[in-house]
Amino acid sequence: MANGLMTVSYVAAAILFILSLGGLSRQDTARRGNFYGALGMAIAILATVIGAHVTGYALLVPAIAIGAVAGWTLAVRVEMTQMPELVAVLHSFVGLAATLVGYASYLDPSSHFTGAEKTIHEVEIFLGVFIGAITFTGSIIAFGKLRGSISGKPLMLPARHWLNLAGILVSVYLGGVFLGTEGSAGLPALFAMTVIALLLGVHLVMAIGGADMPVVVSMLNSYSGWAAAATGFMLSNDLLIVTGALVGSSGAILSYIMCRAMNRSFVSVILGGFGTGGSTSSAAAPAGEVVAITADETAQLLTDAKEVIIVPGYGMAVAQAQGVVSEITKRLRAKGVKVRFAIHPVAGRLPGHMNVLLAEAKVPYDIVMEMDEINADFPETDAVLVVGANDIVNPSAQEDPGSPIAGMPVLEVWKAKTVVVFKRSMATGYAGVENPLFYKENTRMLFGDAKKSVDGILAHIPS
Ligand code: NDP
Repeated sequence: MANGLMTVSYVAAAILFILSLGGLSRQDTARRGNFYGALGMAIAILATVIGAHVTGYALLVPAIAIGAVAGWTLAVRVEMTQMPELVAVLHSFVGLAATLVGYASYLDPSSHFTGAEKTIHEVEIFLGVFIGAITFTGSIIAFGKLRGSISGKPLMLPARHWLNLAGILVSVYLGGVFLGTEGSAGLPALFAMTVIALLLGVHLVMAIGGADMPVVVSMLNSYSGWAAAATGFMLSNDLLIVTGALVGSSGAILSYIMCRAMNRSFVSVILGGFGTGGSTSSAAAPAGEVVAITADETAQLLTDAKEVIIVPGYGMAVAQAQGVVSEITKRLRAKGVKVRFAIHPVAGRLPGHMNVLLAEAKVPYDIVMEMDEINADFPETDAVLVVGANDIVNPSAQEDPGSPIAGMPVLEVWKAKTVVVFKRSMATGYAGVENPLFYKENTRMLFGDAKKSVDGILAHIPS
């Protein structure tokens, strides 16, 4: 392919990626955004593969075929609740690729850089391998934590900040050694730094507790973007630089927005040590009595109400209750009840998790509200259904300054006339913190699997 045509294809792909990000920022344009992204990526891959620099088709074609089949199979099989794990694994691939490309560029016998160009190229290699290695192991640990195969409890090694600082300083020193060598003599320094960066990735994410995992996933997304951009510099591939920078900066912006939603500083999140994970809490059980309610009583409550707000959480995703929730909404609206949904920025296990489920269940976009748009309306609401959510409706975030989630903005559901909480037991949520909401006078607990509960409610609301 001629160089001019390749440049045009790369520019087209870059524009499609930008349009894709724009589309993904709103629910009603997200499908189009996805399509632009996929089209941009198809153009990018095609232009690169048939480009003048590529010759090893005997290896490349089978590799692309294996990758495409593996990606397709994973995408078809993955459950919505496993999405964050999949995203974490994919980030680890980007990190590993950046590391391997770094080594390959360094050992490339046809490399002809001299003087300042050689130094710049070696800085790119060193940085690319450093960021790539941290992203690789950090993402694998995040994957383990999200899957539950590694405890959500933060690992608090003594002097852990000093350990991180020492790791970074030794890496900077090794960078100096690496740049001062000729030929492939810098390999031992590069290798030693890689080992340090791999350990740093493990340590950084192990120190972060369950409640901060959403930010970690988006932070690793950002790292994987910067790793890709560094790879782009190493390979002198402009599109990879642009794409990496887009992913890197959008991931960083998302992390910032999420930190703000949790009232935490970005630095305190990445330094870790917050969130206990697991299902126990050191705090004593809150005072008050737990009052249960049945599905038909809940149906009665809903049909008598004028205003209803539904708060979906992780449990709704696990139970796959969104379809029936949507049907209940339809029937209530047909009876003149005003029904809206309140979405907390970190509800579920992935940014936008609830929006995707509700869109899939055909809930109209205009009744799905963000936390800031609806939080002031709870006092005028007759009934709130909390479907499998816990941390995001926990009043101790506001009432108990000693709580691990103190200061995190929450949906103020307890201000409504009646709150019905759907869950299977009195267990804590992801952050492992007790929830005084369950003991409040106006709270009713609808125990059982959320899907069974909503089925029971639907059966008592005639269409
Ligand atoms: P939580 O994990 O706090 O609570 C979910 C609740 O759902 C649990 O209390 C559980 O109670 C209940 N539940 C689970 N399965 C079922 C079921 N089948 N039927 C009925 N209930 C069920 O989830 P939230 O959405 O409230 O909060 C999200 C949490 O996840 C936050 O702590 C957030 O920081 C974290 N997180 C968020 C990410 C994101 O990007 N959104 C990513 C990673 C973590 P029981 O076991 O008694 O049924």
